[in-house]
Amino acid sequence: MGRPLLWWVRRDLRLADNPALHAAARAGAPLLAVYVLDDETPGRWAAGGASRWWLHGSLEALAEDLAALGVRLVLQRGRAARLVAELAAATGAQAVVAGRVHEPWALAEEEALRSRLPEGVALRLAAGSLLFDPESLRNQAGRPFQVFTPFWKACLAASPPGPPRPVPAGLAGFRADVDSEALEDWQLLPEAPDWAAGLREAWTPGEVGAWARWEAFAGQGLADYAAGRDRPDLAGTSRLSPHLHFGEISIRALWHAAAGLADQGRAPAAAVQAFLRELGWREFSAHLLHHWPELPEQPLRAQFRDFPWASDPAALRAWQQGLTGYPIVDAGMRELWHTGWMHNRVRMIVASFLVKDLLVPWQQGAAWFHDTLVDADLASNAASWQWVAGCGADAAPYFRIFNPVLQGRKFDPAGDYVRRWVPELARLPLQHIHDPWNAPAGVLASAGLRLGADYPQPRVDHAQARDRALAAFASLK
Ligand code: FAD
Repeated sequence: MGRPLLWWVRRDLRLADNPALHAAARAGAPLLAVYVLDDETPGRWAAGGASRWWLHGSLEALAEDLAALGVRLVLQRGRAARLVAELAAATGAQAVVAGRVHEPWALAEEEALRSRLPEGVALRLAAGSLLFDPESLRNQAGRPFQVFTPFWKACLAASPPGPPRPVPAGLAGFRADVDSEALEDWQLLPEAPDWAAGLREAWTPGEVGAWARWEAFAGQGLADYAAGRDRPDLAGTSRLSPHLHFGEISIRALWHAAAGLADQGRAPAAAVQAFLRELGWREFSAHLLHHWPELPEQPLRAQFRDFPWASDPAALRAWQQGLTGYPIVDAGMRELWHTGWMHNRVRMIVASFLVKDLLVPWQQGAAWFHDTLVDADLASNAASWQWVAGCGADAAPYFRIFNPVLQGRKFDPAGDYVRRWVPELARLPLQHIHDPWNAPAGVLASAGLRLGADYPQPRVDHAQARDRALAAFASLK
C-alpha cells in the first residue's frame, strides 16, 4: 500500500463535493481521515453546548459514510496542529489535505501545523466553505467591502462558483494501527440535565440529513421564499444553517441546486435570487471576519467603544430564559433553547430588544447565541449582532429600534408562533397575544392568565426604553 493522504477534517463533514477526497483520488493514494477536537486553539470561541451536540451527530454520520467507502475516521483530542503532524509522521503520509477555515485563529493553526509536518510533507488547503475567496473581492478603491449591496454585486459579477463534484470513485482506505478515541468519551452530548430532547426532535445532523432538509425546502418553502422568509410562524426558510456551518452540504452544490431549479423553471427566479442573496449575507459575514478579525469582540464603528451599556445581569437572565414579558421576544428565546435555532426575523427582534430596550452589550447576547445555537458561527453571529446593534460595517442605524409589539403583529399575524412557544399565553385572544398587559382583567381571567404570576409583566416599558436608548446613543456624538 502506498503512502496515504491524510484528510484533516475541519468544517467539511461531508463526502460530496469535497476537495480532500478528490485529491486522494487524483493521487491514487489511500485515504485516512482525522478529526481533532481542539478546544484550546479557538480559545473562548471553542464550540458551545448546542454545537457540541451537533458535532457528535455529524461525526457519527461521517464515520459511517466513510466506513462504507472503506475509509477510517480517526478521532483525537488536543491541539490539532500537534496531533495532525504526529499522525502524518506516524503513517508516513505524503500530504495533509484540509478545507480552509476562515476564523481568525485558523491561519496561526495552519502555520503551526506546517512547521511541525515532517520534511517534504505539505499541507494542502482547499476552498470549500465559501462561494468566493474573501481575498479576491475588493471595492473600486482596492479595499475590502464594508457594505453588503456592492459586495453582493461584485460576487454576482465574479466567475460563478464551479460545479460541484460527486464523491470520486475508486477511493481506498489506508489501513494502519492508529489509536482513535471513542466519540462517546468526548461527552459532547449533555448528561443530566438532558436539555437536548428538542434538538433531537428537530434535527438530523450529517450529510444525508442536510440533503433531506434541502429537498424538503426545495419542494415547499422555496417557491414562496421572498415573502415567507420573514414569517416565523411558517416553515418558510431552509433551516440549512447548521448543516452549512459544519460543511455537511457544500455551499457550491447548494448554489447550483437552487440556481438549477430557477433555470429549469421549477422555482420562481425571484425566490431563488432572494435565497442566493441570503447565502450572500453568509459570504459577507465571512468576508468581514476575514478582513476584520476583531469583529467578534470590538464594534467596527469605533465610536461605539464608549457606549454607556448597562450592567444588568438580571435583565440578561430574563432575556435568556424567555421571561421578558414581551411575547415575541420570549417565544424566540424559548424556541432557541428548545431547538437550538431561531428564525432570522426573531433573532433580529430579540437582539434589538437586548441591546436597545435592555441596554445589555451585544457581546453578551452573541455569547449566549454562541452557546445555544446549533448553527453558531463566529462570522455570521458577530456580524449580525453588530448589524442589529448599529455598530457594524453596514449596520441598521442605531435609532431604528424595533417595537416588539408591532413586529409581533406584523410577522406573527395570527399569534401562532407565540402560542406555540409561550403556551401560558395560548388562550389569549389574538387582539392581545402580543401585548397581554393591555388586556382587560376579564380577558386575562378567561384566558386563565395571571400577569406577574403565570407570565411576567413587561420588564421595561418599550417607549421609555426607547428614549433611554436614544439618549445613550446621543451621548456618543
Ligand atoms: P435561510 O433563510 O434558509 O437562508 C439560507 C442560508 O443563508 C442560511 O442557512 C444561512 O447560512 C444564510 N443566511 C441567511 N440569512 C443570513 C444572515 N442574515 N446572515 C448570515 N447568513 C445568513 N446565522 C448563522 O448561520 N449562525 C449564527 O450564529 C447566526 N447568528 C445570528 C445572530 C443574529 C443576532 C442574527 C440577527 C442573525 C444570525 N444569523 C446567524 C443569521 C440568520 O439568522 C441565520 O443564518 C438563519 O436564520 C438560518 O436559518 P435558515 O437556514 O432557515 O436560513
